[in-house]
Amino acid sequence: MPNRDTGRSLLRSLNSGAVLRTVIEHGPISRAGIARHTNLTNVTVGAIASEMLEQDLISETGQTDSTAGRPGRLLELNAGAYVAVGAKLSDRQLTCELTDLRANVLAEATMALEHPTPEDFITALGQLVGELLATTSTGRDRLLGIGVGLPGVIDRETGTARYSPFLRWAEVPVADLAEAALGLPIFIENDVNTLALTERWFGRGHGVQDFLLVTLGQGIGMGIVLSGELHSGASGGVGEFGHMVVSDSTQECECGNIGCLEAIASEGSLLRQSAILTEASGASPAVGMDDLYRFAATDPDHKILLMTAGESIGRGIANVINVLSPELVLVRGLGNFESSPLATGIDQAVQAHTFPGLAGSTELIFEKLDDGPWARGAASLVLSELFMSPVAVANFRDPLRSRSR
Ligand SMILES: [Zn+2]
Repeated sequence: MPNRDTGRSLLRSLNSGAVLRTVIEHGPISRAGIARHTNLTNVTVGAIASEMLEQDLISETGQTDSTAGRPGRLLELNAGAYVAVGAKLSDRQLTCELTDLRANVLAEATMALEHPTPEDFITALGQLVGELLATTSTGRDRLLGIGVGLPGVIDRETGTARYSPFLRWAEVPVADLAEAALGLPIFIENDVNTLALTERWFGRGHGVQDFLLVTLGQGIGMGIVLSGELHSGASGGVGEFGHMVVSDSTQECECGNIGCLEAIASEGSLLRQSAILTEASGASPAVGMDDLYRFAATDPDHKILLMTAGESIGRGIANVINVLSPELVLVRGLGNFESSPLATGIDQAVQAHTFPGLAGSTELIFEKLDDGPWARGAASLVLSELFMSPVAVANFRDPLRSRSR
């Protein structure tokens, strides 16, 4: 049972979060406008706004709100006041980006890292963060923290990489190790989830309450945003969409199960299936998804391969739509995915298998998936921590702050 002081500070934190999110989503906006959106009193909004102005988190614009009673100056996010670093680690390289509070990328640095140990990763991270601050002449006191996107089952609450087959890491307390080494707040999350956070705050998911982000590549993942918040599940293992069993194929998955979506429709699986087709015809094998799309334009077997994989993915998506009824499903794939038979197969299966009563209420969008957004997504992890609970930026930047663990 929280004591009264804890209760008060929790309430203040919730109110501040609501005010900051309203400024981000509806700004420039007057204090009266914020009060209307949040159902907080004018006095509460005024006090929180003063505090945030002092912290430089928001600023007043020259405009005034003439639509409601007494005109007041409008408030907007002061995007340049602080920065965040986003780091994306794959089994081959570490990419770090420095962003402002709107996740605009200010600088990028990369380093090759072959199958890094956690120690390799943390050393490289410290080096790249130092480079980014130096090249942009940014003081360390303006850095809110570092967000890290990792493949696999990641427990954001405890900051632990529970199971990452790509990295061959298990039960690694990444956030604690990195905080101890770098003296900065570290937040970790599954990499697909960090992309979903960017969409939620700054992309297609802006203003959308419930949406799904599906990523198709080396792995197949899903980020789930419900009521405006990333759904993390009990153990951080949410969104293992690639291991949804969709097929009675006997193809074994890397996870050890049979019939997983990833075993039949990941980039690696499609390239292997294509190699069997090209070997029979004597053609040179495909090395990436764009090769497969090109082959499919003239070869009916390749077209069937991609359409069938798309149908399996689409059936999986339809099942999730039937359970969650999201407003939007954003599907991102490699190369010229939007116009490929893979996308057509997904579209047809989603239309065919979505419950009739829900059909038409979910928008389906196909987009290209490239390397750029991943590190930016990880920076959004830091920003979303701030947006959810901005009380005292100073507290937030204290590496000894209490994370709920
Ligand atoms: Zn699997």
